[in-house]
Amino acid sequence: MTKEHNKEGIGMTLEDAKLFVYKKRYRVKDKRFISRCIDGRYKNEEGLPALAIPGADLGQMAVIFSAANRYGFEVDGKKALDTLIEVVGGKANFRTHTDSHHEGEGFAKGCGHWGQVLKDKESYNISDDQIRFIEENLNGVGKQIVLEGDHSESAVFMIKGSWGILPQFKNSSTFMYHQSLVDERNRELAEKLLKKGAVTLTNNEGVEWLYEALSEVTTTHLLETSNRLAKGLPIYDVNFEDDGSFTIDFRENV
Ligand SMILES: [Zn+2]
Repeated sequence: MTKEHNKEGIGMTLEDAKLFVYKKRYRVKDKRFISRCIDGRYKNEEGLPALAIPGADLGQMAVIFSAANRYGFEVDGKKALDTLIEVVGGKANFRTHTDSHHEGEGFAKGCGHWGQVLKDKESYNISDDQIRFIEENLNGVGKQIVLEGDHSESAVFMIKGSWGILPQFKNSSTFMYHQSLVDERNRELAEKLLKKGAVTLTNNEGVEWLYEALSEVTTTHLLETSNRLAKGLPIYDVNFEDDGSFTIDFRENV
């Protein structure tokens, strides 16, 4: 089953990762489009969103802007934000986060992903104006979760299927990215962004094209941030069946 061993010998072993997933998996029920960040410091709790994406909904807005810059389409920030709010099921379901070390220092300052975006706007392909838009318009929408403590992630889980994984097990945690839910949400976003006129495509390329653009940029942002915050850690692919059974494979070290 294992394609290759975790050569670097750092971070979580495949055996430990398997036990982690076995113990901490949960079925995704309703509200599947509420998000959390890839950060491993969320508490294990009932109702934790399974859709893990860099920066939660702030990261999603950054993806929309960045995709517009990269693929050359127009985006109306205000309408795009309203669309995202609608897709997550209203303002109350909108999610951003900071952490206990940065509380009171400003909006989302404790989100490692956002910190990296701010440090290297070129790599994330986002403009000063778009960053300002995010800071001015997302602050105060929904819930800014305050994550406690220090980072202790020792692996990256790339999840597919209709199950989620709680981020803490024993004394360890992992970065998580939920590929299936991110894809599903990007698809719905693409459709609604066009329908509401939040996005104007130059050559009328259509929903599928916009979905691909959002997907591509989400992946790029994930890679940029994992290369900065998770360097060397093993990436494990976790694929769930509907009944909760799963396979887990070592992919490579970040
Ligand atoms: Zn974060």
